[in-house]
Amino acid sequence: MIGGSPQTPARPQFEHGVPVIVVGGGASGAVAALAARAAGAEVLLIEQDASPAGTTSMSQGLVCAAGTQAQAAAGIADDAETLFADIMVKTRGQTDPVIARAIAEGAGPCVDWLASEFLYPFALDAGFRAAYGHTRQRLHGWPGHGGADMVQFLHAKLAERGVDVLLQARLIEIVAEELTVAGIVVERPDGAREAIGCAALVLACGGFAANHAMVAANMPEAAAARHHGHEGNRGDGIRLGAAIGAALGDMGSYQGYAMLADPHGITVPPGLLVEGGIILNRRGERFTNEVIDIAGMVHPVLTQPDGTAWVVIDARIEAHNAYTLEVQALRANGAIRNAADPVALAAVMGADAAAISEALADVNAAASSGRNDAQGRNWADTQPPQWPLQAIRVCGAIYHTQGGLQIDGEARVLGQDGARFANLFASGGAARGVSGPSYWGYLPAMGLGSAVTLGRIAGMAAAAVVAA
Ligand SMILES: Cc1cc2nc3c(=O)[nH]c(=O)nc-3n(C[C@H](O)[C@H](O)[C@H](O)COP(=O)(O)OP(=O)(O)OC[C@H]3O[C@@H](n4cnc5c(N)ncnc54)[C@H](O)[C@@H]3O)c2cc1C
Repeated sequence: MIGGSPQTPARPQFEHGVPVIVVGGGASGAVAALAARAAGAEVLLIEQDASPAGTTSMSQGLVCAAGTQAQAAAGIADDAETLFADIMVKTRGQTDPVIARAIAEGAGPCVDWLASEFLYPFALDAGFRAAYGHTRQRLHGWPGHGGADMVQFLHAKLAERGVDVLLQARLIEIVAEELTVAGIVVERPDGAREAIGCAALVLACGGFAANHAMVAANMPEAAAARHHGHEGNRGDGIRLGAAIGAALGDMGSYQGYAMLADPHGITVPPGLLVEGGIILNRRGERFTNEVIDIAGMVHPVLTQPDGTAWVVIDARIEAHNAYTLEVQALRANGAIRNAADPVALAAVMGADAAAISEALADVNAAASSGRNDAQGRNWADTQPPQWPLQAIRVCGAIYHTQGGLQIDGEARVLGQDGARFANLFASGGAARGVSGPSYWGYLPAMGLGSAVTLGRIAGMAAAAVVAA
């Protein structure tokens, strides 16, 4: 029971205690719990939902990492230093270099550890060439599987390794004094509350993209965008951490996405653009360079008539990306519309055939002359789509946030004066990531790249606190 009046809240009596509590059953929390357990700690994972899913389960399950065994097997030369440099360039030097280094150095070993220790079937995504700020091919996934399979796989490993998972328990309070956590309070669906003590706490309970008030306050330019992520991302961990004195960083940082199939709600994979696809607005005009900024492109799309646009590809581009679950789902759900000529495509899009022809003439002329096209895109390493064409209607959305609790290189949460919490760690959407202060610093697959890497670092550090 929790005692105390609303005016003078008393410290709750802990009914029981566990060495390490991890809050959040997405990729970050699951990996943190596995890492703490592998380091010898007893762990309790707490998840608010009846069935763990999180934004992870909506994702493609792709993880960026450098210097992995999968890259070596594919002959890709890459290392932590190169990934670190790519992060700093993409974020215009405005991300936290300590966190960036921890992720750049930890991501490769984390992917290799998940593959060797737990037999996670990671393979290099050879179909997605280095793009959008990655100078090396470094996206790793489970061929033929996505984020939902990733969550299930990791939770099966938690069960195998003896990690207790408490479902339908929502973290509502962190009990702490002088930068030291004593325990937490969780609330069950029937309103019952339970106080659990711990020696170390990992907050891996996601970001705040589902919290409209927090989005509007921290990223007003995205306030009108629809949210396409897990509804549990209400920012609980960030809010509760701040309430006990944690510092926050890069709260304006997020991944928007320009290509959510409308009305199907399926992510159009970026490989369709990288391999030559273009985006037209509903008038048939091009309005952006499609290969510069995977996340920032959401804003040009949001400002088009209707806030929608059309991704235009051809059979070659679709075939190259047909191995992705998303292209298979787009095809199966009728989201890919076929058009033999400009008049047919204009009818599909409700656009002007002359404008479509003009846009295609420009990209084709640029491709054959070697000059940049009207949007500044260079076509040296790919080819524009050729008739007959295919089109997918898309809208912009906010997918997940990238700012949060300020951490150091071992995922330990910092207080507002820079002092370190003794036993509080954060990872994934709950922690400050490495996407800079706004919408333009996101590297492909860095959401899960930072979630699993910081999860592992946090889990190991939490276990070390317990062992000390
Ligand atoms: C459509 C889509 C595709 C994506 N594809 C990719 C991709 O391929 N690669 C990539 O790198 N990134 C991708 N991302 C981003 C990526 O999914 C996230 O960055 C990542 O999943 C974050 O992991 P997480 O564990 O921090 O959060 P989540 O997976 O959201 O897990 C957080 C968990 O905490 C729980 N929780 C929240 N509050 C509480 C509370 N108070 N008490 C108890 N539990 C709580 C939630 O229910 C949830 O289960 C994609 C995102 C979207 C939306």
